[in-house]
Amino acid sequence: DANDDVEGNASHIEVVVRVRPMMKSEIENGAKEVTQATNDTIVLETNKDNKQFTFSKVFRADVLQEEFFQQCGICQLLNKALDGYSCTAFAFGQTGSGKTFTMTGPVTGNDLLLEVESQGLIQRAFQYIYGKIDKNPSIQYQVRASYVEIYNEQVQDLLNPSTTVESLQVRWSADSGFYIENAFVLECESVDDLIAVLEEGIRHRQIGSNAINDRSSRSHAILTIYIDSEVVSSEDLDEPCLTKHGKLFFVDLAGSEKVAENHKGENLAEAGNINKSLLTLGNCISALSDVNKRHGHIPYRESKLTKLLSDSLGGNGITLMIACIAPSSQYVSETLNSLRYANRTK
Ligand code: ADP
Ligand code: MG
Repeated sequence: DANDDVEGNASHIEVVVRVRPMMKSEIENGAKEVTQATNDTIVLETNKDNKQFTFSKVFRADVLQEEFFQQCGICQLLNKALDGYSCTAFAFGQTGSGKTFTMTGPVTGNDLLLEVESQGLIQRAFQYIYGKIDKNPSIQYQVRASYVEIYNEQVQDLLNPSTTVESLQVRWSADSGFYIENAFVLECESVDDLIAVLEEGIRHRQIGSNAINDRSSRSHAILTIYIDSEVVSSEDLDEPCLTKHGKLFFVDLAGSEKVAENHKGENLAEAGNINKSLLTLGNCISALSDVNKRHGHIPYRESKLTKLLSDSLGGNGITLMIACIAPSSQYVSETLNSLRYANRTK
């Protein structure tokens, strides 16, 4: 459409990097810090040499949650979604690199209630969205939310645990593109309603997880916020209203590390599927960020994750990729992989 012609050559994909602090245990074990971050550059010390990468923005370990929210570019996405576009923010990186910390804050065990300062991108986004909605009485908004997990290429509803035995199907329709059939979608009227959805999903995500088989590190969690809006016309009630359907996906991806060699059986199958989704996401994103390829074939259909995100990745919305990085010397090869994956988008 017209919009696409105007923006056809512009990149809709922003990549930022966030480095987490060294952990006490890492320091105690003699690990060293091997990353140096400045405004838009990160340098990784490897055994051989220093590797340097440049991104839209690089956040150091001491950045506060609120600063990260303000500066990472998410507000652009929120504004677009309020205006009827589909946008995606996803956190990528190895297990323990800070994906969940970034998206939702440090939620562990049963302690889901967070101090305001530790809240992640998602809770801050909720506040922002309702701030805008409340300031704009001439537009009528309807906000709904769903929360699913893709584990082993099976879609599970995190809001409706009774269906956890059977997985949900990803379908396609001419009207709405790819969608999850029978996913629970909750109508939300306030920040508190959205927070309740988030907490419910996190709780169910943790139930499926345990120390041995840490499901949450092997699955992709997708929180979708649907924002429908209608301009309220007080003068002419017969005038057809302009209806918009915005969507916002918050994705906490599975850990990107390679599975250890000694994993067998189902674990290998799982790894294959996780890698397939991550690989396909990477392939789609690098094709979309290439001016010569973005109007050609994009392999969305090769994984459930990319099917669900397809209208958002390829449309006129914005995709924000947050590459989460552990600074410790024990993870040099995983960190290099993550930076290379993130770097494919340019
Ligand atoms: P992931 O979801 O990628 O597996 P987590 O978000 O669970 O990683 O982070 C691993 C650990 O590091 C958690 O204990 C978390 O609280 C901590 N952590 C991650 N990022 C930060 C940060 N920016 N500041 C302080 N602690 C962090
Ligand atoms: Mg996590």
